[in-house]
Amino acid sequence: MLEVSGLDAYYGDARALSEVSLTVHDGETVAVIGPNGAGKSTLVNAIAGLHPHRSGRIAVGGTDITGVPAHRVCEHGVAVVPEGRRVFATMSVYDNLCLGAYRRTARAGHKQRLDRVFDVFPRLRQRVTQPAGTLSGGEQQMLAIGRALMAGPTLLLLDEPSLGLAPVLTDEVFEALGAVGAQGVSVLLVEQDIDRALDLATRTYLLAEGRVAGEGPSADLRGSDEVRRSVLGL
Ligand code: ATP
Repeated sequence: MLEVSGLDAYYGDARALSEVSLTVHDGETVAVIGPNGAGKSTLVNAIAGLHPHRSGRIAVGGTDITGVPAHRVCEHGVAVVPEGRRVFATMSVYDNLCLGAYRRTARAGHKQRLDRVFDVFPRLRQRVTQPAGTLSGGEQQMLAIGRALMAGPTLLLLDEPSLGLAPVLTDEVFEALGAVGAQGVSVLLVEQDIDRALDLATRTYLLAEGRVAGEGPSADLRGSDEVRRSVLGL
C-alpha cells in the first residue's frame, strides 16, 4: 500500500530525515515511534506532500507519488490527521465531517461513509450539530479522524493522535483506530506513546535522529529495553 524508500528531508541545511525506508502492506497498521525531534512529523508531512523531500521515492498502491503536491495526494487514497487536530471550531461536527468528503468521488456514498464514521465514533453522532470548538480534546481528535475517513481513504496517516489527551479518551481513540484498521484501511501511525503504538500496530519502526534505527513485529519490540531507552531517553 505504501512504500517509502531512501527519503531525505531538510529544514534549510538541517537534515530531518536520512534515507528513511518503510512499507505498509494492504490493510496493515504500522507505527513509527521515536523521541521528540526524531523526525516523525516530518515523515508524515513528507508522505502527505506537505513538506518537500530532497531525495527518495514514495509510492501508494503501486503508483509513484514522489513530488505530488498535498492537494493531489488525496486523489491517491491518502488522508492525513495532522498533529494538533485542526478542526474548524465554529463549524458544526457535521460540517467538519462534510469537509472531509469535498472531493467529487468522496461525495458519492456520503451517507454510508457518515454511518461508518458514527459506528466508529458514536460520540460524534450525539454531537452532530454542536460547534466543533465546544468538543473536548479527545472528541476533537475523533472528529479529525472522522473527517479524514469521510474522504474514503485506503491509507490513513496519523500524527500523534494521543497528544494532549486524557488517558481515558486516548483509550477510546486507539480503540476506534483498531476498528478503522478492521474496516480494511491501512494505517501509518506516528506516536510517542510507545505502549499504545505497539499495542495497535502489527509492525513498528523506530525513528531516531531522522533515521530508521529499528523495525520489527510490535510484539518483539514490546519488551525491548533498547527501544524504551531510545524513545524515552531512559
Ligand atoms: P515531536 O514528537 O517533538 O513532534 P518529531 O519526531 O515529530 O518530534 P519533527 O517535528 O519531524 O520531529 O522534527 C524533526 C527535526 O526537524 C527536529 O530536529 C526539529 O527541530 C526540526 N524541525 C521541525 N520543524 C522545523 C521547522 N519548521 N524549521 C526548522 N527545523 C524544524
